[in-house]
Amino acid sequence: MNTKIWLSSPHMGGNEQKYINEAFAENWIAPLGPNVNGLEQDLEKYLGQDVKVAALSAGTAALHLALIECGVKPGDEVICQSMTFSASANPIAYCGATPVFVDSEPETWNMCPVGLRQTIGDRIKKGKKPKAIIVVHLYGMPAKMDGIMSIANEFEIDVIEDAAEALGSSYKGQMCGTFGRFGILSFNGNKIITTSGGGALVCQNQEDKDQIVFLSTQARDDAPHYQHSQIGFNYRMSNIVAGIGRGQMEVLNSRVEARRKMHDFYVDIFKDTAGVTVFSEPSSDFYSNHWLSAIIVNPEITGKTREELRLAFLEDNIESRPLWKPMHLQPVFADAPYYGGNTSETFFDNGLCLPSGSNLTEDDQKRIAKVINNFFDR
Ligand SMILES: *Cc1c(COP(=O)(O)O)cnc(C)c1O
Repeated sequence: MNTKIWLSSPHMGGNEQKYINEAFAENWIAPLGPNVNGLEQDLEKYLGQDVKVAALSAGTAALHLALIECGVKPGDEVICQSMTFSASANPIAYCGATPVFVDSEPETWNMCPVGLRQTIGDRIKKGKKPKAIIVVHLYGMPAKMDGIMSIANEFEIDVIEDAAEALGSSYKGQMCGTFGRFGILSFNGNKIITTSGGGALVCQNQEDKDQIVFLSTQARDDAPHYQHSQIGFNYRMSNIVAGIGRGQMEVLNSRVEARRKMHDFYVDIFKDTAGVTVFSEPSSDFYSNHWLSAIIVNPEITGKTREELRLAFLEDNIESRPLWKPMHLQPVFADAPYYGGNTSETFFDNGLCLPSGSNLTEDDQKRIAKVINNFFDR
């Protein structure tokens, strides 16, 4: 059996263990310390816009705290992009609130601004103004942030950007994660950089960051004994994990470059294949880190389905995966309101994510190309 080619696997830079060793040498084996502060500073510098970053245990935890800071309470409604990973929507349920799902537009596969406006209007008419909007930069592709932000500002609703997949992506030159009131990042094992597991919350000011750090460390009031006047969480990042993050930040730019090269590789392979579209930026306003390269297979033109291609890859021990199944089609969210048509559903039916790691070798690429060429009889 050939060795397995993964969709996206961890790719260490080399200095990660140095930072971990420092933590051991100084006995900072705790959810605070120089690596936590260092990673936050690295991210703040990288993202620009004077943002403040809180390092947390996961992207999901970051989203949960962002919703709490936006004042989301039981019975509230939160608008969320339907086409995404479940972790974008689950924290809405943690708050006892109801997700209201919105369809994507076909250019970026992200929340449709027109659909967002209709959704807000209808929810207000039905008696409830949504408390927050969760927009996702799927597979690293920036959402149409001008449209989203101007609607959100008009209705005075907080925006939370789920930039878990989009560290290194930008829209009109501004980094994803820095547009909304909050932006969330993930360093899970399959993301563009990883800390094995971890995340961060991007804040617009120090006050919000201080409050997030307070909540993430059990909401301890200022007193010599343990004193609490709010429900706290244990969501802070460990100083060991943050050490991996500091090493990974040193190589982030080269990881973005490598993922973008994988996208170019697929553009080249499929350039003469009628009926296959490689997911690409709609204009120069959008700069994707191309965390995952993805294609849409039109079975009416190709005579083949994305599922048949997935199985052909599997035969050669190569991992590929259908696009995210929209949340409004998930059994767990069957009762949640949905606004839109079948854009995201059609993408789910015909879309496939392809191996995209920054550590794929030339031999790996040859194996991938061979499967594709055989599959399309050429
Ligand atoms: C990975 C991911 C998350 C969750 O991040 P974790 O760090 O795994 O909790 C949230 N949203 C999206 C879109 C993701 O891809």
